This record gives sequence, structure tokens and C-alpha cells, in this order.
Amino acid sequence: MELKDMRINGERLQQSLEEMAKIGATPAGGVQRLTLTDEDKQARDLLVKWMKEIDLEVTIDEMGNIFGKRAGKNNDLAPVMSGSHVDSQPKGGRFDGILGVMGPLEVMRTLHENNITTERPLVVVDWTNEEGSRFSPAMLASGVWAEELDRDWAFDRTDINGKRFEDELIRIGYKGTLPCKQSPLHAYYEYHIEQGPMLEREGKIIGAPKGILCLHWYDIYLEGEANQVGPTPMEGRHDVLCAAAEMILKVNELPDRMGGNMVATVGEIQNYPNSRNIIPDKLHFTVDIRSWDDDLAINAWNKVAEDFRQIADRRGCPIKIEETWRVEHAPFSDKLVQGILDISSELGYSNLHMVSGAGHDASYMNHLAPTAMIFVPSIGGRSHVEVEETTWEDCTAGGNVLLHAMLRSANEK
Ligand SMILES: [Zn+2]
Repeated sequence: MELKDMRINGERLQQSLEEMAKIGATPAGGVQRLTLTDEDKQARDLLVKWMKEIDLEVTIDEMGNIFGKRAGKNNDLAPVMSGSHVDSQPKGGRFDGILGVMGPLEVMRTLHENNITTERPLVVVDWTNEEGSRFSPAMLASGVWAEELDRDWAFDRTDINGKRFEDELIRIGYKGTLPCKQSPLHAYYEYHIEQGPMLEREGKIIGAPKGILCLHWYDIYLEGEANQVGPTPMEGRHDVLCAAAEMILKVNELPDRMGGNMVATVGEIQNYPNSRNIIPDKLHFTVDIRSWDDDLAINAWNKVAEDFRQIADRRGCPIKIEETWRVEHAPFSDKLVQGILDISSELGYSNLHMVSGAGHDASYMNHLAPTAMIFVPSIGGRSHVEVEETTWEDCTAGGNVLLHAMLRSANEK
């Protein structure tokens, strides 16, 4: 068979995704596979087993990242890498992350059964804790691998019950010995569901994002004065929940106020003591701001932070603001993005040049090597929910684009 006629086995890809979806399956058809839980361990064990079945050289680093390497003709050349994550959101979907690990695994299975050896080695990777929902921030282990986050700081991250990241990594048996440190890469591809509505809206099969929006996370803490709600008059209250309500609307109005081209969200709130007959006196909420324009996002934040201070002042609720995490917008490699569009067209798949609103491990890889992503449609644009869905046909289409993108890069001398 000529290389250009080669296709992945869509049925096998489907079976692997279905097998993985059983691990942490939720009643409503999603998965709950939080980082470093027993479910994460089970998914990892299965991945390692599948990697070994096709003779990949499996290594695990000290952050628990799992690499499966397929030798090339010239192993002195930097490899082509593709991967994503097996962890999920609480009550997440069956495609987010796992598609980007099963996809390149299927590419390697296809090459294995056709006895194809590429010029450069190929690597499939599972990055630990992409989601950041158990241990903040997201993309933790790819960030350490890219040397943009500190390893010991990452080890000390704790979950809501105070469990340490490193302790949980050891508990599930995935603290490897390999240093978590970047090594040369020729190219990085990440295959992922879109998680938004654009492909479906435009009626296209393959999305090639020109890059990822910047991502800024903030944590806001308010202090007020608790009291019995009945006897306490309305005037003179220091009610943190009312202060937060005003602030949250300011966040929601922010994109309009800045002239668009950004999104701003409050997704998480903790109110104390959270009792119907006590005026709330302690509160924490998060702010998430994303844009292609980093300066716009920072200007927007400065404006809304000033509003927060005024509201806090007026309501007599002292405020503490933490700038938790900032990742700059990531423009991908023009050459690789164009390659994804060209390959899609050659394979007969309609395609769209777009942006990614969601963060991915590819953001960090983009600082190390030419990087691109392949998106397939999310039905109804829904993700991070149990009803997350993508058709098997589209999963296969994306897998074929990934196959030819990886082949193209891996046969470059
Ligand atoms: Zn993901």
C-alpha cells in the first residue's frame, strides 16, 4: 500500500475509546476520572498495557507523565510527539483528553501492523493533571516538563481534602524515576474535541486552530460580618454575598465593555457559613479571562479589579485578590497548521481555520517545538459535561488527519 492511501482503523479507535469510557463511567454516560485517583490509575494501567502490546518503549517521569516511544530509522533525530490526557473533569465526558491519547496510539497501531518505520521516532504521551479540577492549576505536568512550572511547587499542590499531589502520585504507583524535563522535539500534535460550537455551526469536520487564547485565572477573597438575619437591620450590613453578586455581574459585562474579543467567567464560588439565617461573612470566587489579545485581557482585569475594590469598600467587606495563573496566548506553527488544513482537504474532509478557547497541554509544548492541534466537532458544542459527544465518523476522520500529519513530520530529515 502506498503511504498516502493508509488509513487508521476507526473501529479499533472506537473500541479503545469505549473501553476507556468504562473506567469511571457515570450513570448519565460521562466519566469521572479525576487526576491521581484509582480511576486515573486504572486508565493508566490500560494505556501502558496497550502501549506494550505494540512494542512501544514505555517510560514514566517523576510527574507521572507516560511516554510510549516508537523507534525510527534514525533515533538520533528529535521525535514527533502527540498526546493529551486521560484525566477528566468531575462528571466530564468520554472524549475530552482521552481522544488525544487513543488517537496517536491508533496511529502507532496502524504503522505497527503495516510494518512502517518512520525516519524519526514517534512518541505518544499522557500528561498528568491536564484538567486542574482536583489539583490547580490545569496543565500542571506539561508545564513542569516544559520547565515553566517548578517541580517541587507542583508536588506540594493539594486537593480540597489536603492531599498532596506527590503523595497521591506515589499512592497510585505512577511516580516514575525519569526527570520531568523537556527533551528536543521536532513537532508536537494534539488531537482533541473542539469543546465549542464553531465546527458544527459551519458544517465542517476538521478544525485547525491558529492557536490558543491567553488564559488568566484570579482568586478573590471577601471578608464581612456574620449575624442573625432577622434582628439585623438592612443598613450597615457587611454582606459578602451581595458584594460578590455585584462583582460577578461586572465580570459578565466585561467583554462588552472592552469591545468584545474576549470571554470572562466566574465559575466557582464558596460562601460561608452558607446558612439561610446567617449573613454570609466569608467568600471566595474565581475569575477566568481569555482572549487572543493578552494586553486586552490584562487591561480588562485592571478595570474590573478596580471595580471590585470600590464595591468592597462601599460594602465594608475587605477584599484580597490573588493573581493565580497567567498563560499567554499561543500562536501555533503556521507551517503545521497549514499542513493540517492541506491534509484534511487531501483526505476529503471539510475544514476550518479557527482559534481554541480552551487551554491544552499544547500551549506549553508550543514554546518548545512547532505545534498544531486537530479538532473534531463537539455535538451541540458541549464539553466538560456527561453528554459530551462526537460521532465515531468524526473521530476516525481526525485520526486519519493525525496519521498523515505525524507521518509528514516524522519523515522529515
Ligand atoms: Zn482536554
